[in-house]
Amino acid sequence: MKVPLLDLKAQYRTMKPAIDEALIRVAESQYFILGPDVEQMEKNMCEYIGCRHAIGVSSGTDALLIALMAIDIKPGDEVICPTYSFFATAGVISRLNGIPVFVDSDPVTFNINPAKIEEKITSRTKAIIPVHLYGQSADMEPIVAIAKKHNLKVVEDGAQAIGVHYKDGRKVGNHGDIGCFSFFPSKNLGCFGDGGLVTTNDDELGAKLRILRVHGGKPKYYHKIIGGNFRLDAIQAAVLNVKLPYLDGWSEKRRQNANLYTKLFKEEGLEGKVELPKAIYDGMGLKNYHIYNQYVIRVEKRDELIKFLKEKEIGSEIYYPVPFHRQECFADLKCKDEDYPVANYAAEHSLALPIFPELTEEQINYVVKSVKAFIG
Ligand SMILES: *Cc1c(COP(=O)(O)O)cnc(C)c1O
Repeated sequence: MKVPLLDLKAQYRTMKPAIDEALIRVAESQYFILGPDVEQMEKNMCEYIGCRHAIGVSSGTDALLIALMAIDIKPGDEVICPTYSFFATAGVISRLNGIPVFVDSDPVTFNINPAKIEEKITSRTKAIIPVHLYGQSADMEPIVAIAKKHNLKVVEDGAQAIGVHYKDGRKVGNHGDIGCFSFFPSKNLGCFGDGGLVTTNDDELGAKLRILRVHGGKPKYYHKIIGGNFRLDAIQAAVLNVKLPYLDGWSEKRRQNANLYTKLFKEEGLEGKVELPKAIYDGMGLKNYHIYNQYVIRVEKRDELIKFLKEKEIGSEIYYPVPFHRQECFADLKCKDEDYPVANYAAEHSLALPIFPELTEEQINYVVKSVKAFIG
């Protein structure tokens, strides 16, 4: 049985007429950049995320970059982020000639460990970027408290976590100064190319983000500040407007799939041999405490398991094999490898299994049986 890591065609098939109509409508309008579809998408996102401002941008990476520009990250400024995330989280700091400062992960969620943040703060620290990894909120309460105490900005990387609640009942993207999201096709809400979003509840930052998106010009051709081309395509917004009403249903399916995996792994007696992901806000009466952008297990002999699964036609992927403190491009930061035991463990043992909404029970069963065949 074939079980791909992700099957975007399956999702498209369920909504093809509405999507095709939206694509044709944009084609006929020949209105390609920003415009009414993007404005509608931003309105929809304000409502969905529960924030005052939502600004469509060109990608999740650009969302992070424009956010750091909006909070005035300058050369030499230090920005704290987890060492274990997608590269963009740290890359954007260096692109502004800031200095990324890496923090080890929490051993249960693999999100940034708030207890390890304060020891990294210096007089040059300007901001913290918590990442809501795999679709579960980072622990924002202590992070925001630390930021307040040291007068730091908080930029949330919610690329894997759109629509996720933190334990206070508010959705991610509302806790920091700016929230960043990605609509890359493999995220829970994906468009038909690159796309992203920044959110804020601060009117001044909201206005500044809008100006930075169009090269910093306001009015057009008059520049008090320097921005970039961070504009979103109308086609992407039109696709997102069709898809957004389905997002909670997809996230629910991902959770059901995750619960089934967990149940089957336990029934097969693999708990312990396979470390299972934990939704730590489970049972707090919230809906989307974990939306499983990825269902990530930890196993010994991970690399052999990948090969075995591949032979069984099961897709899997390592998110992420190299934490930032081990990346060649950050060698000059002289990070100490022994400062990051949790992230190192994750990098060496993590494996993401197929979790997309359209996955069948039969496929999940087959994946669990195959893992058992390898381990058992
Ligand atoms: C995907 C992702 C990004 C980047 O988003 P793009 O839209 O691909 O640029 C940033 N951070 C995290 C944690 C991501 O998963």
